[in-house]
Amino acid sequence: MSFNSVVVYHSILLLGAPGSGKGTQGKILGTIPGFYHCACGDVFRAVDPRSDYGKAFIHYSSKGQLVPDDVTIGLWAAQIESMERTGRFKPETDFLVLDGIPRNVNQAKILIDKLDVRRVFHLDCPDKSKVYDRLKRRALKENRIDDINDEVIERRQQIYEQETKPVLDFYGEKLITEVDSAQLPYQVLRDILTAIEHHGDGLE
Ligand code: ADP
Repeated sequence: MSFNSVVVYHSILLLGAPGSGKGTQGKILGTIPGFYHCACGDVFRAVDPRSDYGKAFIHYSSKGQLVPDDVTIGLWAAQIESMERTGRFKPETDFLVLDGIPRNVNQAKILIDKLDVRRVFHLDCPDKSKVYDRLKRRALKENRIDDINDEVIERRQQIYEQETKPVLDFYGEKLITEVDSAQLPYQVLRDILTAIEHHGDGLE
């Protein structure tokens, strides 16, 4: 995979099943100076649905499947480099808060030289009924085709277990902070910020 920029991104990863609240936390973190949030799902949703990228996204996401890695990384790299060029994301001073990428071990391997991963937050909610309620509410509010029916929601949870969870092992437990995502959003945020401070993960 080719990146035009050789700059390494100091990164914080938010990892969790669909509905675990990664997007909510990512958005809040992204409002703090020194943090830049990039949600891979948002990158896809912003693409013209008539383009090749847009068509691929609709094809796979409507079935609850992952978009192929070459398409995903290609689109993501173009987006993040454009943010870098236009000065919205400043890799020398900003933490990149990633949500939704890497979503499998292959993507993590492709990004190994590009991401300097400082901490991985595993947002875990043992109460699956809570997660399903959140997804259903979001589907109605945000018109999300991938959360509309139980079958697709179930498929997305399975894919998370099979493909995304192994990403935790890839980075190893030293980098991982477990967060109880059944808590209220402000409590989840408190746990994330406490861990960032505690681990002295500031940029040099
Ligand atoms: P959620 O926040 O519910 O986990 P996202 O908005 O991150 O969902 O992603 C929606 C859909 O976009 C996914 O189901 C998948 O089809 C596609 N997608 C997003 N990120 C990736 C990725 N890194 N690799 C492959 N597909 C992705």
